[in-house]
Amino acid sequence: MSSASANDANDADELSMGNVSGATRVTGVIGDPVIHSLSPALHNAAFAALGIDWASVPFPVSAGGGAQAVEAMRTLGLAGLSVTTPHKDAVARAADEVSDAAAALGAANCLVASADGGVRAENTDGDGFLGGLLEDADTTVRGKTVAVLGAGGAARAISLACAEAGAARVLVVNRTAQRAARCAGLASSVGAVAQQADIPGADIVVNATTVGMAPDSAMPCDPALLHSGQIVVDIVYNPAETVWLAAARAAGIRSYNGGSMLVHQAAVAIAHWTGHTAPVDAMRSALQARLG
Ligand code: NAP
Repeated sequence: MSSASANDANDADELSMGNVSGATRVTGVIGDPVIHSLSPALHNAAFAALGIDWASVPFPVSAGGGAQAVEAMRTLGLAGLSVTTPHKDAVARAADEVSDAAAALGAANCLVASADGGVRAENTDGDGFLGGLLEDADTTVRGKTVAVLGAGGAARAISLACAEAGAARVLVVNRTAQRAARCAGLASSVGAVAQQADIPGADIVVNATTVGMAPDSAMPCDPALLHSGQIVVDIVYNPAETVWLAAARAAGIRSYNGGSMLVHQAAVAIAHWTGHTAPVDAMRSALQARLG
């Protein structure tokens, strides 16, 4: 073998093996599709910054395969999995233990291997939202009125978390009234179904719909309903600034995208899996490197 091809082979070995050893703890993300998930990049940045022998990989799991993935986690001894669409409901049903938030939501985005070989289902989206808000806007929801636009999985996690964190009111504004009622119900006594006209009365306005996610450039509400006394969060992070968020910023409103929520929900997962406090700065850098 020429020295050039020997070097190529060494490079290839280096690339294919990385630092994986026989003792490496394996985690990952399941979804359909999962190829574009940013979770492995965030997890691996965290493991590297913590200096621990852990790795995260994407596992494509077809719709309907969520329960089998939980079984595979037990069989393969995986340390944890992040869970994305369409498996969040199925894994919550298939897990051996379910956290209070995942049980209330009927959905989990994080699976954790228990010491006894079982699997615990967690939902870290709500804490991820609150952590992102604290980091970005240096504020909490305590005593505030939060308008949540949308009533899907993310909106429900955010509504529940805001109520539990002491929000004065959680106003759910959604296209489909029945789903809005279910979402508002999660915020119990502080939750209410609301209309777009109620948005100006909120302290914090959160877009938790899929509206504005690339390649869509529509807006979840008329930006004229927003004002400079508010904080606006669009949990969409692709594009980094939606048309709606840009309109809010142009109007002088403090506005933030979903990058911090993404980092913080992954940080909670890292803490569940490893027992370490997640290195949020390293994870944010990894996200910025991916999204530009
Ligand atoms: P989902 O369960 O499918 O819910 C989608 C929501 O969007 C529903 O309330 C739906 O209303 C609403 N919607 C969709 N199209 C609409 C339209 N044309 N006009 C008005 N409302 C519309 O989705 P999800 O899992 O909650 O995710 C929502 C968004 O959050 C996605 O963009 C996702 O990427 C993002 N997300 C971000 C993070 C993060 O960490 N930053 C975490 C989770 C999710 P109906 O009920 O009327 O159908």
